[in-house]
Amino acid sequence: MTDPLADYRKKRDFRATPEPDPAPPQPRGDSVFVVHRHEARQLHYDLRLERDGVLKSWAVPRGFSFDPADKRLAVRTEDHPLEYEHFHGRIPKGQYGAGTMQIWDRGRYELVKIPTWAEAMARGEVKVVVYGRRLRGEWHMVRTQQAKNSWLLFKSKDLYAGHARDSALGIELGTAPMATVPVATEPMRSGAVGECTNDSAWLFEMEFAGLRTLAQKRGDAVGFAPHVPLPPPLREGLAALRCGDAVLDGVLVALDANGRPDHAALAAALAGAPSPSLAYYAFDLLQWEEFDLRGLPLLDRKAALRTLVGAHPRVLFVDHVAGDAKALLHALREAALPAAIGKRAASTYTSGASADWLRIDVPAARPGSDDAAVATARAAAERTAAARWKPSNLDKVWWPAEGYTKGDLLAYYQSIADVLLPHLRDRPLHLNRFPDGIDGKSFYQREVKEGSPAWLRTAPIPHDGTIVPHHVVDDLDTLLHVVNLGSIDLHPWLSRVATPDQPDWAVLDLDPKTAPWAHVVRIARAAGRLLRGIGLRPLLKTSGKSGLHVFVPLRPGYSYDHGKLFLEAVARVLVRELPDIATVERMPDQRDGKVYLDFLQNRRSQTIVPPYSARPVRGASVSAPLQWDELEDATLTPQRFTIRSMPARVAEHGDLFRKALDDPQDLLPAIAALEDVLRGR
Ligand code: MN
Repeated sequence: MTDPLADYRKKRDFRATPEPDPAPPQPRGDSVFVVHRHEARQLHYDLRLERDGVLKSWAVPRGFSFDPADKRLAVRTEDHPLEYEHFHGRIPKGQYGAGTMQIWDRGRYELVKIPTWAEAMARGEVKVVVYGRRLRGEWHMVRTQQAKNSWLLFKSKDLYAGHARDSALGIELGTAPMATVPVATEPMRSGAVGECTNDSAWLFEMEFAGLRTLAQKRGDAVGFAPHVPLPPPLREGLAALRCGDAVLDGVLVALDANGRPDHAALAAALAGAPSPSLAYYAFDLLQWEEFDLRGLPLLDRKAALRTLVGAHPRVLFVDHVAGDAKALLHALREAALPAAIGKRAASTYTSGASADWLRIDVPAARPGSDDAAVATARAAAERTAAARWKPSNLDKVWWPAEGYTKGDLLAYYQSIADVLLPHLRDRPLHLNRFPDGIDGKSFYQREVKEGSPAWLRTAPIPHDGTIVPHHVVDDLDTLLHVVNLGSIDLHPWLSRVATPDQPDWAVLDLDPKTAPWAHVVRIARAAGRLLRGIGLRPLLKTSGKSGLHVFVPLRPGYSYDHGKLFLEAVARVLVRELPDIATVERMPDQRDGKVYLDFLQNRRSQTIVPPYSARPVRGASVSAPLQWDELEDATLTPQRFTIRSMPARVAEHGDLFRKALDDPQDLLPAIAALEDVLRGR
């Protein structure tokens, strides 16, 4: 009998690689799948399915997509031993598959429709249902005639199918334990009445008057906490959640004749009276499939919940505003609703009263009340609401060709503020003001002008021997204020107010001027490959005009010189690799139509537009975070992302640039690895 692992052994030297030197295959009757993220010469994902005592393997260069229309190439590779299920580590240079191998997902799977492996292979078709933390539901693989070992992999249409993301929930499930959360669990409650209305660590939701209850879906069985009735329309709504199992937290609400939540209307609806307004407003997710999510940050739980709640009118997602409750409180006051709930964005879910949740009374809702807490809340609301920015000239056309107005731009910034503000917070900001739109005159402004509103946060920054007060955009009001002044794009520093000499990221600006977009893409691909190859996790976005920005988020403690020198070396490697299309020539007229690799922006008091910033150019394009594999899309252009199209992309993907803030990286090992690259060439 032939050894199915002969190929695996033949390719490896087990004295040099940490990969498992396998025992002879022993079928164990399990059905495990594992996906390795393999940063080899080319980043790819290795899908492995246990069968007949080995892991049948495919390399998937572009990874997974939950969009059934995305057909991804999967190349059948040699069978791996079962021991590989738990393998992760670095395969040294010179060895087969040199690079890092991480476990990206793992779980059970089932072969469907085609009952035996032999039959599946004979037909060249494998259908599996997988139960992972990232991959879920049915996936389909079909052998093609294109080339030996070439297959196509794609998502089947099921309840997990949807957008082009590579995980079912769109969040890191991390170490969430496998455990069942009982629907009778005591809910989390606000621990106090507070006046926290403007704090970037908090998010704010409307409080609903109704019946608080957890809800569960266990396959086809759905229901609320014990003793809460389940009217048929809600049964349907819970059954429509886009998952197998879930436990949600929320409030049952019915509206009165004036459209306001009303306890009497709710009692009648729960007693069986027909009520078109009865609905469950879900604001938290405690369990997803077999995982207990209570230990994850609230913001992640809400992002996950958002993906589960579909368009059913009876089960609704409670959205929130981040960082600043003022606009929400104002809206609640207008609607004569009593309160908002502030929740710490990073908080875990705990039963009972918690200081991580605060009830915030809406002041004007109870005129004449002498309740001390209400008075405190009212004073806080009045303080934050007093004389903030006032919009002007909303109808003025700023993009003549498109007819977009200043009001359109303000509306755009308001709609994406949740994802933009974290990238602006705590940084000195320069203004580039276009008071008459993109075709009018513009002026650059570092300092906060005299006569600016007193509520603006400003930071005193030493510049050219004097102290220059700079704008700092920490909240929505300040953002809209600077846009109202004529700022179409935004120019924050790479460093923060308290650490002006320590950038949070190193940036390589691929600036094409007259060079074709295809060249920018080729260079970006090479840059991504190079940076990943030396152990970094770079990020990519369009500049909003015609170029691309490559970001490497840095651990605290690096200087601007570190970033600049490092990226200069990176730029020189790229120029050596692609001399016909890339240059580090500083004089524009001597670049011969090549793409300029600009590493000089890594300097104190230099700025770079943040993700989501609009640009003062035709088309109203914006800086768009990209996933690296979007570069493989031949139809990609930076003009695709505009103030009109970006809000939908953000709603679909969330902040694709969040890792710029959450994934700070060490430069020193990368510098050492880059030196190896330089010596090796
Ligand atoms: Mn591989």
